[in-house]
Amino acid sequence: MSKTMMDQARALLRELYGYDDFRGEQPHAIESLLNGRDTLVIMPTGGGKSMCYQIPALLREGVGIVVSPLIALMQDQVSALQQLGVPAAFLNSTLPPQAQQDVLHALQTQQIKLLYIAPERLLQSATLEQFKSFRVALFAIDEAHCVSQWGHDFRQDYLALGVLKDHFPDVPVAALTATADQRTREDIAQRLQLHEPTTLVGGFDRPNIRYSVMPRANARRQLLNFLDRFPGDAGIVYCLSRQKVEKTAQWLVQQGYTALPYHAGLPADMRAEHQHRFLNEDGVIMVATIAFGMGIDKPNVRFVAHLDLPKSIEAYYQETGRAGRDGEPAEAWMIYGLQDVVRLAQMVDQSGLNDQMKRFERQKLNGLLGWCEVARCRRQALLAYFDQAAPDHCGNCDICLNPPEMWDGTEAAQKLLSAIYRTGQRFGAGHVLDTLMGKVTEKVTQNGHDRLSTFGIGQERALPDWQSVLRQLLVHGFVHIDADRFGAIRLDESARPLLRGEVRLQLRKDLIKAEYMSSEKKT
Ligand code: ADP
Ligand code: ZN
Repeated sequence: MSKTMMDQARALLRELYGYDDFRGEQPHAIESLLNGRDTLVIMPTGGGKSMCYQIPALLREGVGIVVSPLIALMQDQVSALQQLGVPAAFLNSTLPPQAQQDVLHALQTQQIKLLYIAPERLLQSATLEQFKSFRVALFAIDEAHCVSQWGHDFRQDYLALGVLKDHFPDVPVAALTATADQRTREDIAQRLQLHEPTTLVGGFDRPNIRYSVMPRANARRQLLNFLDRFPGDAGIVYCLSRQKVEKTAQWLVQQGYTALPYHAGLPADMRAEHQHRFLNEDGVIMVATIAFGMGIDKPNVRFVAHLDLPKSIEAYYQETGRAGRDGEPAEAWMIYGLQDVVRLAQMVDQSGLNDQMKRFERQKLNGLLGWCEVARCRRQALLAYFDQAAPDHCGNCDICLNPPEMWDGTEAAQKLLSAIYRTGQRFGAGHVLDTLMGKVTEKVTQNGHDRLSTFGIGQERALPDWQSVLRQLLVHGFVHIDADRFGAIRLDESARPLLRGEVRLQLRKDLIKAEYMSSEKKT
């Protein structure tokens, strides 16, 4: 390509944006789009995706059309561009009809270089026809994973964006996302009908974020202990359910923290107020469901704590990525238990997805559980998920800082597998572990499980240890959870050699402090 175009791109970077250098894959994305090629950009949040399409849009003839699902953010993005002196506008349902007419007029008279638009608006046939009357420099599809059912945020409106190529076959499309798994990538390219796209994957490592993950034992005490290390800092505490969000926020306030709840069930004005306080006050802890966070750009979030497992490694990466945007040390901290896996698996089961999608969702969930239970550098394992190489030892994750011991778990595994087998592979973790530990509960006596040979054979170990063994058996694929049968645990074929003592099994010792070792409590 002409060298001069890239020189112009650099000049814009300096003069317009005031930055010295491109970051990571930015120059490659810009070059590809300047060459008129479809381009798939995968970069973590905060990686600088906007620049990848803004600069080529400014340098190419015509208007750059940016499709974004985040209507609430369009105004901000457009204002920011206008402040730089870029003629930009947005079109969405929040704009009064007259203002919409003005924007359309400005487009036709080539007074706009960048237009932000909601997908449903762009796809109206009248709009598509109108847009054919002027030159389009490129389409940028932000949050492009929304077109994919494999992604974590599928939107019907997005799916239809595939028709853009039918209407505008010669206009290059930039698809941008922070979601990286291979399957979603391929799906994006296919659904948007990208033509041999240049695919660029930016650095996913967030070296200033320390990762630590531990089994849930006494959740509230664990959380307090964690928060102790962040006096006066802002952070996010994620919970799975709305109810838990509210209870946890209330309880944190009682403990003297400035904590606010946020979930989709709260009135809009309250949500807006809490978000505003989080962004503008110091030291606010937002206790939230995943409804909170998309598009939130607060640089000094010092921690993201998860009291429940997210749905997948990607979701986890996205959510924790909100910590430490300023590059200062930050921590991603999570506690989890087998119960989370059962609950999430049941949610998948009841989701109305087709069987293939359900299987895929379960795989993702197991992938995350496996990551929780790793015995090697957590950062390396995380980056491996995004196909990115990393050193063996990052020095800034719980495993590197405090390597877990391994132990020969063969005999323990045999006992637990036998207990699952003897109780008929029909019961959930709680009951199986009760029989193993010799607890006489109503369910135990009702089923006559106190008469089984496996009843009470596991008394030498505490409950959290058995929970740990069970989670690891699950991660290694020796057992499965039947989500459609109330979370019943059943054996995999691969458990046979282990039961017969033909193979041995090394397990990871959990790093839970003794003070948390009461039985698993719910927050
Ligand atoms: P993303 O869309 O990937 O989440 P943005 O495009 O919003 O990221 O960029 C994140 C931040 O990084 C913005 O504040 C942006 O101005 C800044 N940024 C982007 N590119 C560069 C660069 N080459 N040098 C310095 N800062 C940059
Ligand atoms: Zn590490």
